[in-house]
Amino acid sequence: MSEEKTLFQKIADKEIPSEEVYSDEDYYAFRDLNPGAPTHILVIPRKPIPKITDATEADAALLGRLFLVANKIAEAEGLTEKGFRYVINCGDDGEQTVYHLHLHLLGGRPLSWPPG
Ligand code: AMP
Repeated sequence: MSEEKTLFQKIADKEIPSEEVYSDEDYYAFRDLNPGAPTHILVIPRKPIPKITDATEADAALLGRLFLVANKIAEAEGLTEKGFRYVINCGDDGEQTVYHLHLHLLGGRPLSWPPG
């Protein structure tokens, strides 16, 4: 693991300000600075996995619980009934810009498909 903290580790550790939505020992969630929808939240594991493809078998439970945490947030944000979208961008073609695994939770309006 690299010694330098990722941007999102600094956010989760409150070294950089963010609008917190959820926090526990293993996860942190905060509002995206540049929202793409009325509700746009980033849910991260505190563990700095750079890309989804860097996850290993040892991360299986962590990845599973990431979605359960996100489901709780979606419910708390009132998105469950109408629906919403989860997105994980991966690598350059996926337009990943921050190399600390994060799940985008987007909702609050009808979302078009396909994206981009
Ligand atoms: P991605 O393109 O999937 O890597 O998404 C990175 C997301 O992080 C983008 O939607 C950015 O708007 C968001 N972002 C970058 N810096 C911050 C920050 N300091 N606070 C909140 N969101 C951020």
